[in-house]
Amino acid sequence: MAPGHRSILIVGAGTTGLTAALELARRGFRPRLVDSDVGPVPLVESRALGVNARTLTLLSPSRVSDALLQEAHQLKQFRMVSKNRTLAALDTTRISGPYGALYALAQGHTERLLIVALSNYEVTPEWHTSVEAVSLDSPKPQVTLRKPDGSEETASFDIVIGADGAHSAVRRAIGFGFPGDALESSFYLADFRYTRDIDPNFAEVSLVDPGMIGRLPVERDVLRYISTLPDFESRIVHPAPVAERLWASDFRIHFRHVETMAKGSVFLAGDAAHIHSPAGARGMNLGIEDACWLAWLISEGREREYSSLRMPAVMTVLKQTRMLTSLFTMKSPLSTALRDLVVPVLFRIPAFSQKLLRGVSGYDTPSPPWIDGAQ
Ligand SMILES: Cc1cc2nc3c(=O)[nH]c(=O)nc-3n(C[C@H](O)[C@H](O)[C@H](O)COP(=O)(O)OP(=O)(O)OC[C@H]3O[C@@H](n4cnc5c(N)ncnc54)[C@H](O)[C@@H]3O)c2cc1C
Repeated sequence: MAPGHRSILIVGAGTTGLTAALELARRGFRPRLVDSDVGPVPLVESRALGVNARTLTLLSPSRVSDALLQEAHQLKQFRMVSKNRTLAALDTTRISGPYGALYALAQGHTERLLIVALSNYEVTPEWHTSVEAVSLDSPKPQVTLRKPDGSEETASFDIVIGADGAHSAVRRAIGFGFPGDALESSFYLADFRYTRDIDPNFAEVSLVDPGMIGRLPVERDVLRYISTLPDFESRIVHPAPVAERLWASDFRIHFRHVETMAKGSVFLAGDAAHIHSPAGARGMNLGIEDACWLAWLISEGREREYSSLRMPAVMTVLKQTRMLTSLFTMKSPLSTALRDLVVPVLFRIPAFSQKLLRGVSGYDTPSPPWIDGAQ
């Protein structure tokens, strides 16, 4: 069957759903893409900032990487500081290949670049359109949509992709389990715009025992601080006068994943299938990776292999983010003292920092076989 003849519904136009649509469209499919929201995420309320080398490799055939690199800035160093002492510094430029390990660009910008690329294939997200029910009772998955005018539409599709985030309606409707656990404490974040440019080249985690305050560059004059401490804002030493506090939020960290990413012709990708801590900046990147693999497998007629090919990558990333999160959130004085002794030694071992760097780059998951020379 020619690609365009398989009907595909993608639920959710976040970075995962948009990427799935783009990768399918450039291979000759005409997917339908619906989202319950009224448009892409607002630019100042972007959760994800870190775009890794794997994502840039995956988005190179569609040329979205070129556009991303025009807008993003490279994070050249990651530092871990404790009691005014630098425990460890990771040079993120020391990775082979065409890209640095990690770049910063707010998720809202990434989503808008994907929407522009998708418009070249005349695919537009249908905003304000939500999935209300999905059933596998007939040979093809049947979906009920609520449209912007309040009317209902029920239709069958050859393939349904649930890219509808952590609270996925598709996942719940089809009865995928989502086992895992949540950390007891909450995390807090605030973004500040300064009256002048700040150094955007490094990210830093200050360990304040117990707890941490992370400093992440968002733009040349915007920093994000993220912390385990509710009163963290009073502890920030700003690098320049604050012009504006742009956004603040708090969230709990869950580590959860589905046991299979497919049932019949319904597939899950991105946060709909796995959620974890933002440590390591992996969530959005992993969702983009899922989307690219699924689109490629569908185009090869091999989508049945999707879950078994992706689950090992999901487990690798969950393990890495859990390890980093435990390092940043230790509470007992004995463990924090031990950590402060061991971390500097570990980072001086080339094999350890190289492994960490491969993780930050996203190169610790299988490389895409459809892209020549990909790591
Ligand atoms: C503080 C923080 C910082 C982070 N930083 C990073 C980072 O630096 N790098 C990184 O890679 N990741 C990061 N992440 C994780 C990242 O934000 C998520 O993994 C990513 O947004 C997931 O994308 P997604 O498209 O799968 O889901 P989402 O972005 O949640 O998109 C899901 C879409 O589905 C739509 N939807 C929901 N229900 C329905 C329905 N019933 N019908 C139709 N549409 C529906 C929603 O409107 C939404 O647009 C961070 C997360 C947090 C909390």
